[in-house]
Amino acid sequence: MPDSLQRDLDASYDQRVLARTAGAIQPHGCLIVVDQRWRNVMLTSTNLDQFLGQAPVEALGRSPSAVLGSVPIGLLASRFGKGEEGRASTATCRLETTPQPLHVTAHGVATSIVLELEPCGILTDNLTERVAGWGSRIAGADCPGRVLSLLLAALRELTGLETAEAYRIDDDGHLQRLVVDDATDPVHKACGAFPVGLSRPTGSLFSGSTPLRLIADTTASPIPLTGPGADALDLSQAVLRSIPVRDRNWLRQLQAHTALVINLYDGQRRWGLIACHGRQARYLAPRLRQLLQLLTHTAFQRHALLQEREESLRRRQLLATAGQIGVRRPRRPSNAALLAAAKACKHYFQACGVALVYQGKALGLGKRPHAQTLQQLAAHLDRCSPDALWHSHRLANTALGKVLPPQGDFSGLLAAPLASEAQPAGWLMLFRQPTGRRTGAQQSDDLQTPHDGTVWSTADQHAAVELARMLSNDITIWRARHRCRRLHERNARLRHLARTDPVAGIANRHRIEELLKAELAIAEHGGKPCSLLMFDIDHFKRINDSHGHDAGDSVLRQVARTVQARLRTSDHLGRWGGEEFLIIAPDCTLRQATELAARLCQDRLETPFPAVGQVSISIGVTAWQPGDTSSQLVHRADMAMYQAKEAGRACVRVAEAAD
Ligand code: GH3
Ligand code: MG
Ligand code: MG
Repeated sequence: MPDSLQRDLDASYDQRVLARTAGAIQPHGCLIVVDQRWRNVMLTSTNLDQFLGQAPVEALGRSPSAVLGSVPIGLLASRFGKGEEGRASTATCRLETTPQPLHVTAHGVATSIVLELEPCGILTDNLTERVAGWGSRIAGADCPGRVLSLLLAALRELTGLETAEAYRIDDDGHLQRLVVDDATDPVHKACGAFPVGLSRPTGSLFSGSTPLRLIADTTASPIPLTGPGADALDLSQAVLRSIPVRDRNWLRQLQAHTALVINLYDGQRRWGLIACHGRQARYLAPRLRQLLQLLTHTAFQRHALLQEREESLRRRQLLATAGQIGVRRPRRPSNAALLAAAKACKHYFQACGVALVYQGKALGLGKRPHAQTLQQLAAHLDRCSPDALWHSHRLANTALGKVLPPQGDFSGLLAAPLASEAQPAGWLMLFRQPTGRRTGAQQSDDLQTPHDGTVWSTADQHAAVELARMLSNDITIWRARHRCRRLHERNARLRHLARTDPVAGIANRHRIEELLKAELAIAEHGGKPCSLLMFDIDHFKRINDSHGHDAGDSVLRQVARTVQARLRTSDHLGRWGGEEFLIIAPDCTLRQATELAARLCQDRLETPFPAVGQVSISIGVTAWQPGDTSSQLVHRADMAMYQAKEAGRACVRVAEAAD
């Protein structure tokens, strides 16, 4: 609607006009108000004559039975009763005594009862069959979009009205027109939005006080009520109530002579509505309206069921894809798996970009703010919404919107916290851009600003929470695994340090003693031989004295390496102290050990220094005897080694076990 027209309409919307139409009804029916005891007619509409053949003045003050007949009044009174608990009483009946059959609806208002009388109309013979036919087609529809499109087609066909449109009321209380395209996209898209309570396009028409609302002729003048207190009567529940002038003018501007609104309920909550408009004035009889309401109710139940099914299937698919980055994997997921999961999220949430901010890192896919901005957003979220889901489809109006660069053109953010033992762990963020540029026609019935995006649905929010929970688990597990691995590596390093001689790079004294005890225990238990060789580098002091301590260290290392290379893998070499070494040779007899010692003694033990050349070693050998302790064994080997020294060095001496 052009703004100038809106201004004209607003100008016409003054309280006097409202007051005149507030207590008025549409002219296709008439209205009588009786007292709670059904004794007196208190008010009537001024067109009573046209339907009952008697003027309001004749009816006012008389008993309702005298005006409408005792049988229908008795019937209504008994049906009306006290009504169901918690609900306003209503009752209907058919009145045959009038010039044309009338449908009477009774409902209570404060201390009186309002009777609305409308023509029963002439219904086509097969109306019920036609409604049932549409009903079974709708029941067979297999996607929500198809249900809605069938329902809209049914409403057009059954009412003869040209247009039928579905609207949804979002969590913010805005109406969004649904584009239903069952051929290509079963998921309807929202476009256009305006607050339900606003008069644009027609607040009173779309208000949810009655399940179904018919404006039969927008050009017809409203009929006032007559009788004491007529202006004060609350007609908000009356099906015949007239609409304010402004809304009527608005409908006329649309060239709609008939308007029908059917509200859609999801339990107690109004989920949305269907609005039908016709270019010709058209009266829809109460029976037809009842059938339409029933059909709409059935269709909407089917719609809700299919939508729920579709939603849970989509969510399962999302979580299954996102689950690939999940807990069963031993390592951190591959980039490809992360990318697949991010794509699944983007598609599911119809987001332009998705980002994960955790442990100081910002990962993402699609159109999203820069890493630095993402970190700032996460910091803001930590402050303003710690541990709770945060969302907006109008980012520009929020404090977080100020963090975003204007050129980013982001309209919506859905942020779910990643829980972890170390708070704050991070955020899963989904971004949306404004819902397209609108054409002039769309802008006219639309109060959204161009920077608004599609509202994050409850299903979106639940899915984001679930996804964040899953990612949090994964992150916690990765971190635990990472910590475990690092701890393991550290322990291994410490163990190595504790057991290794730093100069020679072989087992240290402590380790070689441990190994000796272990090997002796095995020998003792299995009755197997075990020999010990102790050797000392000859004239080592000279090397230190002539070439320096570092050269001495290198010689120690080189000798250890050379000897180690000559040993079996089951043998152990360790530094006993200074330039003395110990070899444990498990499963080795004294004879075999002596042969080994002889080989080592004869070997050329090269040093890395040409000036030093080769070094020799003196070796003492002994074998374990049952009853030997480790120190007795070491002592014997040591003694044998000294004998070798005394014998001139570079030779082997064997110590037999003492008896
Ligand atoms: P012998 O043939 O009788 O064994 O004579 P030797 O010179 O080898 O023996 P001595 O006991 O006189 O000297 C051993 C030297 O080894 C003394 C000490 O400074 C040196 N030494 C001990 N530990 C280390 C070490 O870790 N690095 C270096 N460079 N020298 C060491
Ligand atoms: Mg020595
Ligand atoms: Mg020595």
